[in-house]
Amino acid sequence: MTTGVWVLGDQLWADQAALLSCAGAKAQTPVLMIESIQHATALPYHLQKLVLVWSAMRHFAEELQASGWPVTYVKQAENFQTPLLAWIQQQQITELRVMRPSDRPFTRYLQTLDLPCKLVLLANNHFLWSEEAFQTWATPRKRLLMEDFYREGRRRFHILMTEEGQPLGGQWNFDKENRKPPKGGLQTPEPLWFPADAITQSVITTLQQSPQFEQQRRYWPLESFQWAVTRTQALKVLDHFVQTRLSGFGPYQDAMVTGEDTLWHALLSPYLNLGLLQPLEVVQAAEQAYQKHQQTWEISGVEGFIRQVLGWREYMHGVYTCVDDTYPERNWFQHQHPLPEFFWTGNTLMNCLHQVIHQVRQTGYAHHIQRLMVLSNFALIAGLSPQETEQWFHAAFIDAYDWVMQTNVLGMGLFADGGVLASKPYAASANYINKMSDYCKSCHYNARARTGEDACPFNFFYWDFLARHRTQLKSQGRMSFILKNLDKMTNAELAAIQQQAVNWHQKQRKA
Ligand SMILES: Cc1cc2nc3c(=O)[nH]c(=O)nc-3n(C[C@H](O)[C@H](O)[C@H](O)COP(=O)(O)OP(=O)(O)OC[C@H]3O[C@@H](n4cnc5c(N)ncnc54)[C@H](O)[C@@H]3O)c2cc1C
Ligand code: SF4
Repeated sequence: MTTGVWVLGDQLWADQAALLSCAGAKAQTPVLMIESIQHATALPYHLQKLVLVWSAMRHFAEELQASGWPVTYVKQAENFQTPLLAWIQQQQITELRVMRPSDRPFTRYLQTLDLPCKLVLLANNHFLWSEEAFQTWATPRKRLLMEDFYREGRRRFHILMTEEGQPLGGQWNFDKENRKPPKGGLQTPEPLWFPADAITQSVITTLQQSPQFEQQRRYWPLESFQWAVTRTQALKVLDHFVQTRLSGFGPYQDAMVTGEDTLWHALLSPYLNLGLLQPLEVVQAAEQAYQKHQQTWEISGVEGFIRQVLGWREYMHGVYTCVDDTYPERNWFQHQHPLPEFFWTGNTLMNCLHQVIHQVRQTGYAHHIQRLMVLSNFALIAGLSPQETEQWFHAAFIDAYDWVMQTNVLGMGLFADGGVLASKPYAASANYINKMSDYCKSCHYNARARTGEDACPFNFFYWDFLARHRTQLKSQGRMSFILKNLDKMTNAELAAIQQQAVNWHQKQRKA
């Protein structure tokens, strides 16, 4: 009887459930890790992401080997199945243990494998809330409100709480203090990056030379790679964030500035999503730093950051585990327009989209408001297909996985689920972007114009979106104030706006 463990590419933690279950017999437990080209080319994934995942896997395999696990590491296999079956046979595995994948499609794939041994899926321990714990919380509720969930998380894990069980600072949420526009020259902290080592360099060489990645090379430049690829480096990024960025995280959390890709953001999602960092250690590091600097730091920034990890991240994952299998196909507004080519090239006169897409092409990263209020906002109001948009996000981002895509892109960004997740669509005109960024200053379009040659497309699409979906939007209580503004518009102006939206799509189709 031999038990073996297959470690998946986003399960790179020595205490992940499958490894943990065999830790007492590590020298006798064969471990398998596979790089599958079929999996890596299922979508035109960003090359930055492929370098990150494969380099982190190779480093992790070396660490496991050094700590006594007998590891078989298969580089650049055509698919998962062939090396998996060969390894099972060679090692005479009778029981294969895998930590349950975070992504549902991969769980389904595992369940369809015809294996000559028993398959045991162990509960995923990469999140603070297990699937079962989230369902217990969710079951008696009519609506799964993130704020309720977040408060429960604060109590449950005793984060930013007083001894009496009250929220530290007398409030649960300081979000109102965290929305400053970027006025004047901001002094932003430097992010922590790393030079590519020999392992990373060998992955880069493969991706630059292999004919299988030709399509990806057309979309994604790979001039430099600077992300952390080991837990040790990821812990340094966490420490650097806590020491140099956390105290300033709050006020400019929603700001967007040309040439400032990261501002005070943590840059931790790629590492959290791979298992190189654990959510509780991230939250506790932030809390401990606050305790040390209480005299000088505002609680609003620290609470804002903790809400992202303890609240939003866990909530998005929890909701993903609850929704049914039709969720990925939802399209509440019946949006069907294809994704414009400029999402892949950045070649558009809309400066906000040009800047953000250019940044994503270089790094695979954009911060939350760039994702929500520029990229997905445009896709929403222009009526782009939610599924095509989701696939683009999934391919383009360094931290994208099915579990985090479905809820963020389809739910939060595009409202394609009809309000399972968000209480109203995140739709905005150029007003928002003009207030929260410096992009409009150097744009070809006029952020104040709704119609005419130089009208900003965010403006005519915004009003066109409200008019097209007036009836559906009326059912969303929080939209009534905005719809009143639509009612004040003259018929002539609305007709001109709607025509301009139609013309824009026609021009795209011809291009
Ligand atoms: C349309 C859209 C697409 C997104 N795609 C992804 C994605 O592919 N992968 C991803 O991890 N996040 C995604 N997010 C959530 C969020 O934008 C990113 O987690 C965040 O920008 C990552 O950068 P950071 O580490 O610098 O985050 P910070 O702004 O510093 O936030 C700290 C941490 O909070 C967590 N977090 C905050 N909000 C969310 C959220 N809504 N969902 C999950 N985690 C959250 C992340 O782990 C992040 O590292 C998306 C959001 C939207 C609206
Ligand atoms: S004017 Fe419109 S298109 Fe140009 S940067 Fe501003 S919001 Fe974007």
